[in-house]
Amino acid sequence: MDNDQTLKAVPEPSSLKRASGSSKRAAARIISELCTGCRICVQTCPIQCITIVESELNYNGIAQIDQRCTGCNICAIDCPWDGVVMVNPDGSRKSAAEYERQLKRLRGYQ
Ligand code: SF4
Ligand code: SF4
Repeated sequence: MDNDQTLKAVPEPSSLKRASGSSKRAAARIISELCTGCRICVQTCPIQCITIVESELNYNGIAQIDQRCTGCNICAIDCPWDGVVMVNPDGSRKSAAEYERQLKRLRGYQ
């Protein structure tokens, strides 16, 4: 099995693929190595699309995001361990400035 086949055979648990496959919004992705399984994002996600799954990386398990993610950013803002990043459809990550703007909107500062 070559490297490409290995990658295809082991999909990321927090896959960004959506049912429609055509979203123009960013979507949340879990950084497995940073996730502590603290469950804060599970509690704050407004559509309950995050669950904790067993993982060899962490006794508490790690977060997993399903395809319903709307890209609202709340989990990325609330994660105390930087365990969530927002990824744009082109694969780039949202910038710190974008997070800041979203945080202000969510918290009602502007
Ligand atoms: S808030 Fe962060 S560290 Fe806690 S479970 Fe969610 S992604 Fe993991
Ligand atoms: S970006 Fe929003 S909808 Fe998507 S997993 Fe995070 S809190 Fe839930």
